[in-house]
Amino acid sequence: MTDHPKFMEQAIALACRNAKEGAGGPFGAVIVKDGKIIAEGANLVTQKKDPTAHAEIEAIREACQQLNSYQLQDCIIYTSCEPCPMCLGAIYWARPAAVYYWNTREQAASAGFDDDFIYSQLNVPPEDRSIPFRQMACSPANHPFELWKASTIKIEY
Ligand SMILES: [Zn+2]
Repeated sequence: MTDHPKFMEQAIALACRNAKEGAGGPFGAVIVKDGKIIAEGANLVTQKKDPTAHAEIEAIREACQQLNSYQLQDCIIYTSCEPCPMCLGAIYWARPAAVYYWNTREQAASAGFDDDFIYSQLNVPPEDRSIPFRQMACSPANHPFELWKASTIKIEY
């Protein structure tokens, strides 16, 4: 816990470097396990032409490779900004022990990174969302969930 400031400073340094060098959005994240940084990430959305290349996602992918796991057990994520809804979801799937953030969503919004419109979509019925989600009729034949339930080779997670 005494290294808290050091880890956050590194996440902020990654964000600042991105902002100065134009590599991507001004966001950085590091992932710590057992008191050591095991992964770093910076926003690479424009560079990679990947809308999911947020700092937290980049760091989660790297950390999982480092740990050879699909989960971040006992890891702590330090991120330069409060995670957006996509990263919030990814963080819950990765299941780290805790998340620390520096800038708030409101501060990000003041710099042109407003994700409030996504948070507000979460409670809107799918068909009424600004990007409509429409369920299609599904046939029971070859149903992936039934195949999954019956599978004897699946890796449950
Ligand atoms: Zn994000």
